[in-house]
Amino acid sequence: MERYEADVAIIGAGPAGTAAAAHLGALGVDRVVLVDRADFPRDKTCGSGISPKGIKTLQKLGVWDEVEPHSYPIRGLRLITPAGHEAWQSGGEAAEAVVCYRRILDHVLLKKALSAGTTFVPNFDAAEAIEEGGRMVGFRERGGREVRARYTLVAGGSHCRVGLPALRPRRTIQAIMGWWDHADFRPHHVEMIFDRMLEPYYGWLFPETETRVNIGITYEDPPDGKKHARKLFKEFLDKHYGDALANATQVGGFKGHPIVWSYAIEQLTAPGRFAIGESGLMTHPATAEGIYQGMRSGMLGAEAASSILSGRRSEEDAFKTYERECKKAFQLSFWGGGIFRELVRKGGLDLVVAFGEQPAVKTATARIMASM
Ligand SMILES: Cc1cc2nc3c(=O)[nH]c(=O)nc-3n(C[C@H](O)[C@H](O)[C@H](O)COP(=O)(O)OP(=O)(O)OC[C@H]3O[C@@H](n4cnc5c(N)ncnc54)[C@H](O)[C@@H]3O)c2cc1C
Repeated sequence: MERYEADVAIIGAGPAGTAAAAHLGALGVDRVVLVDRADFPRDKTCGSGISPKGIKTLQKLGVWDEVEPHSYPIRGLRLITPAGHEAWQSGGEAAEAVVCYRRILDHVLLKKALSAGTTFVPNFDAAEAIEEGGRMVGFRERGGREVRARYTLVAGGSHCRVGLPALRPRRTIQAIMGWWDHADFRPHHVEMIFDRMLEPYYGWLFPETETRVNIGITYEDPPDGKKHARKLFKEFLDKHYGDALANATQVGGFKGHPIVWSYAIEQLTAPGRFAIGESGLMTHPATAEGIYQGMRSGMLGAEAASSILSGRRSEEDAFKTYERECKKAFQLSFWGGGIFRELVRKGGLDLVVAFGEQPAVKTATARIMASM
């Protein structure tokens, strides 16, 4: 049976896992094994929007120069409130954010990890944790290969539960989206439509290139059932994008995917393991952003694991530091997301947009949206 040995093993090569692997290499940890159930490049259902904080993190990882040429710059926002008010906010010529197709972004990050010395094992579907004496010491496929490691970073995203430190209560945002060529849209602007049918969430249009956009919706299911995703999406498209898509060609079919999150940033560690990215429920409660949070928590997880391996910290101390740093990075913005959800529910977004006709408020609103 094939068996890999590592100081740090990582389940999942999304932004969290690849950022962690690349950063471990930069920190001098050289026995790193990263597995993914897919081979790369691979698609990931995602709006692919990268916030200013995400761009800064890509710069820290040393991959921004490679990501930027494949990215579509965003300089403004079209906002529709639940009461139907429309507001345009533009930040001028400088790009505040970008959209980078995930097939490309994740592959660039993976290549960075490979160049930092990571061993990548594609088509490896981790099925169960290997535990000895209450510690996770690796993981294995069903009836197949296994990876043994001193530490495992769990980075398998919303579906993967293998080796999670704790099965914490998770909240779910549902999402469904599609891609179109030659839709009618304002270049370099993203659109966020806070329609009551999605409250407190929103639908979006994100341009990926001069000719291609992705459009999608996020929403919550009621506690006692499930909404019909396709029906809801079609209703949304007819209402908001009927004209814009009249001469457009749809590329591929609709794709649905859940996003999991929690306000509480805790229980991210257990003996032998760390949860990073969406596996640690670190996605934004209002915007569903998770690329930045994945990469940032991946880097923090890498720093914590490396500090134990080099003998600079005890495991207990490194675990505490990791959770503290994740809280420092995300807690305020997650609470801010909670306030924003209430604002949307109680009609506050309409007030903000009404006041927002004044230039100072317009800039401030754009800044708040960008930094959430
Ligand atoms: C429709 C939609 C739109 C979104 N739009 C945005 C957006 O515009 N901007 C933004 O910032 N975020 C967005 N998000 C959220 C974002 O996609 C995720 O939060 C982010 O990808 C999380 O990164 P991650 O590395 O933790 O996990 P993922 O990106 O999900 O990566 C997990 C990886 O683990 C692998 N894997 C899973 N299970 C196993 C296993 N058992 N064994 C081996 N490998 C495994 C998967 O193949 C995958 O490659 C969106 C999400 C959805 C669903």
